Amino acid sequence: MMKERKILLSESDIPDKWYNIVADMPNKPLPPLHPVTREPIGPEALGGLFPEELVRQEVTMDRWVDIPDEVRNIYSIWRPTPMYRAYGLEKALDTPAKIYYKYEGVSPSGSHKPNTAVPQAYYNKQAGVKRITTETGAGQWGSALSFACQHFDIECEVYMVRLSYDHKPYRKIMMNTWGAKVFPSPSEATEVGRKILAENPNTTGSLGIAISEAIERATSTPNTKYALGSVLNHVKLHQTIIGLEAIKQMEKAGDMPDIVIAPFGGGSNFAGLAFPFLRLNMVEGRNIRCIASEPTSCPKLTKGVFRYDFGDTVGMTPLLPMYTLGHNFVPAPIHAGGLRYHGAGVIVSQLLRDQLIEATSHDNLEVFEAGITFARAEGIIPAPEATHGIATAIREAQKCKEEGTSKTILFNLCGHGNFDMKAYEDYFAGKIVKHELTDEDIQKSLSQLDTPIIPDR
Ligand SMILES: *Cc1c(COP(=O)(O)O)cnc(C)c1O
Repeated sequence: MMKERKILLSESDIPDKWYNIVADMPNKPLPPLHPVTREPIGPEALGGLFPEELVRQEVTMDRWVDIPDEVRNIYSIWRPTPMYRAYGLEKALDTPAKIYYKYEGVSPSGSHKPNTAVPQAYYNKQAGVKRITTETGAGQWGSALSFACQHFDIECEVYMVRLSYDHKPYRKIMMNTWGAKVFPSPSEATEVGRKILAENPNTTGSLGIAISEAIERATSTPNTKYALGSVLNHVKLHQTIIGLEAIKQMEKAGDMPDIVIAPFGGGSNFAGLAFPFLRLNMVEGRNIRCIASEPTSCPKLTKGVFRYDFGDTVGMTPLLPMYTLGHNFVPAPIHAGGLRYHGAGVIVSQLLRDQLIEATSHDNLEVFEAGITFARAEGIIPAPEATHGIATAIREAQKCKEEGTSKTILFNLCGHGNFDMKAYEDYFAGKIVKHELTDEDIQKSLSQLDTPIIPDR
């Protein structure tokens, strides 16, 4: 009999609630602080940037949040997403481990990002917002938001990190196709951008800078709000649709993962897959290891510190309690643009602090080798960000082989790499190098911080 490769759900299986892990966390996240007074602030401080319902979701203690029918209806364009048993990869690795992956690259923009872009556009529309500004690193978030805004007839303005803007012209055209305006960041369109360009005209930009530009535009233009594609609690909440589907699929396969893995930029696709499984740990006493996978060139979880820091480069956002490399940290120009962010989201940071999750890192060459092994074994060409999760899955599968144990591994294939051929071209041309980031480099960035520290308990 042919072995079933895909574990599929039907549209009626699309969950009708998102899962809010904060309700079950033993230690709740510390409050954000005002950027100037450094006093704790409430949700109202976010009201200028985001519509009311998203602010409510940012701080809600409800365990489950209803997914509006209109959102589920758009989700059904690509959801439920398939789960695959990676028979090809298992064979290539000659491992006794069972490997599964949840494939989020089937969305219109090619990653998990529309899972939150759609509800964010929906709640903005409900609040009468006419224009949304945002930043994009690799172009995945900008594409997702462009798609979502177009659906609700909202104008979309995207500040795209210069490095990606130059590397990925077709990401820009994709956004234009859905009707968005795209600026290379730093840009001449904002005060922040002009200042940074004057100081450093050749900068490749960073997510932190692009965030500062998008926020400046949102706060200085009428009827305009800002949207963030990662890091924040409401973004992670929306992404839990991934893990909620994955649990149904694992049950359908008659299996349950021992290890859950996802690449880590700000934490949203990791949260999306892992939080529903962490719930099983917290309420059912299971012992599923959840591992976040980051680049060695931007190692906030494995080498950063847990303290208050700004979400952007300029220091306009509230101070958040997070694992950070310092808001002035500019990561090496790796192709995995979505992982080039100095900090980790608040919830994930608290979970790591409490040792409820794990983190690991991989260098630039290792992840490309993992990505190519995967593409040849499974067919799908992964996004450079996604290769980090693959590299961790391969590492764990190889451990199984060495130890002669069979574990069940589930990872998030959070996006395809069909727009990332420049990255693969560079790899085949031998241009991908290890980025040596020394502990001194990290210390130098951290020593510039004067934000509040968080004492050990
Ligand atoms: C944005 C993105 C990431 C990183 O962001 P998270 O919020 O950590 O998920 C990773 N992979 C892909 C494909 C992305 O688009």
